[in-house]
Amino acid sequence: MRILLDEEQLQAGVERLATEIDRFYGSDRPVTVIAVMTGSLVLFADLIRRLSMPQRVGVIQASSYRGGTESGQLDVSSDMMIDVADREVLLVDDIFDTGKTLDRLTGLIKEKGAKSVKTAVLLHKHRQHEVSLRPDFVAFEIPDEFVVGYGLDYLDMYRNLPYLAVLEPAEIEATEH
Ligand code: 5GP
Repeated sequence: MRILLDEEQLQAGVERLATEIDRFYGSDRPVTVIAVMTGSLVLFADLIRRLSMPQRVGVIQASSYRGGTESGQLDVSSDMMIDVADREVLLVDDIFDTGKTLDRLTGLIKEKGAKSVKTAVLLHKHRQHEVSLRPDFVAFEIPDEFVVGYGLDYLDMYRNLPYLAVLEPAEIEATEH
């Protein structure tokens, strides 16, 4: 495993992200902040404690990887979703890869009557995206490699790593056995 971002770099990135978001919303405007589960779990906990506006906090479940490293069909479960009608919504996800997840969720939240929808991600992968949406707030640009740690998984493992690492093809194979 090759470390791409260590703990200190990640915390500095989250701090930058929080500063940018705070600057945009100010400290009085109430925002409904929604975690895209499960990948944003660790980022979310770190980020919301640094934001200064009044927040309503919720989660939404979306999974596209189905346990592998290739993006598959997207499953969205909004059963647990907080009410967004007439609210200013900030969606928080771990990574913007093809962009399909945030594109689909942004549409869904708009359909449910949100006043505005913005997106924040820890990582933005340098690749050809498949949608026209771009994230509003980004902490890091990274190369097109498969990364794990700080919430990101492979087969639901590695989410607990305090750093972000590239999982090499041989390690991907080894994890499967
Ligand atoms: P998108 O819909 O933008 O293609 O993909 C978003 C989701 O795919 C992310 O929320 C994340 O769960 C997963 N994903 C994309 N790239 C990576 C990666 O490099 N590593 C891991 N662990 N998950 C990824």
